Amino acid sequence: MKKLSEKEIKKVLEKALEEGRKVIPDGHVATYIPQLGLVDPNLLGITIVTKDGDVYSVGDCDTRFTIQSISKTISLAVALELCGREEVFSTVGMEPSGEAFNSMVELDLNSNKPYNPMINSGAIAVESLIIPKASFSDMLLYTKRFCDDMEITIDDATYASEMSHSSRNRAIAYLLQSKDIIKTDVDDSMVLYTRMCSLSVTSRSLANLALLFAMGGVSPKTGERLISAETCRIVKTIMMTCGMYDGSGEFAVEVGIPTKSGVGGGLLSVVDKELGIGIYGPSLDAKGNSIAGKVMLKYLADELELHLFS
Ligand code: GLN
Repeated sequence: MKKLSEKEIKKVLEKALEEGRKVIPDGHVATYIPQLGLVDPNLLGITIVTKDGDVYSVGDCDTRFTIQSISKTISLAVALELCGREEVFSTVGMEPSGEAFNSMVELDLNSNKPYNPMINSGAIAVESLIIPKASFSDMLLYTKRFCDDMEITIDDATYASEMSHSSRNRAIAYLLQSKDIIKTDVDDSMVLYTRMCSLSVTSRSLANLALLFAMGGVSPKTGERLISAETCRIVKTIMMTCGMYDGSGEFAVEVGIPTKSGVGGGLLSVVDKELGIGIYGPSLDAKGNSIAGKVMLKYLADELELHLFS
């Protein structure tokens, strides 16, 4: 990262916000989960936390929103810790699918395991591995600790809204069962998956989670190890190759920061060994990634020299 004063970093963030605002009208909030369709598309915020404990925030940083697919990084980390990499990767692959996040064609036609844990089929399979070892309240506690945010709770309205519009995820779960990938109860996997997606966070909670991954699993605040370095390495690598779904390749070239998106509008971005970035911007592009968030990350990557290969 480029060495800049506090004032200069704040200026870069303000300008990033300005750049992001310009593209908000080109996107749309998700409506396939009706509750997400009620959100104001103009909300926008960024939080950066550094390894030295500095925090920079601009825009709507205190607004709570649902974590959605970003929870897939937490579930993958917990599954790796509780089950080990052999069990996890005998159930789910580590290759980009090149398909939409809620696709099942590649699973149906080409493979006997989901392509990766960052798409719905892979994440639902990961939840089924977790079920014998951890309850939802355990997962909530992991999430609170990883995000250093004790206020995280389930957003009941979004959870209910998604559960009553979940035909596609149920179809995926049953396809997984038909291929003997899910061995636990299908509904249990669906419920845990949807609950994890419905946890409400802020850009600050995401920045804290990103920093934990950046620091190889050791809490920068307490020095306590919360996740193994090996697990962090795997999660970050899969974020880089699969975190933006079928937009992951272009995003890696243009921005080069391992990032995971969610249809709630969140982005979790890891600048290894340096920073955690959390973004909220609910207006989405056609692939389900925050449209302004992507522009802001590109701006930050250029201005602060954050591309992994810069
Ligand atoms: N809960 C959402 C779903 O399963 C998560 C998708 C996402 O954030 N891309 O459709």
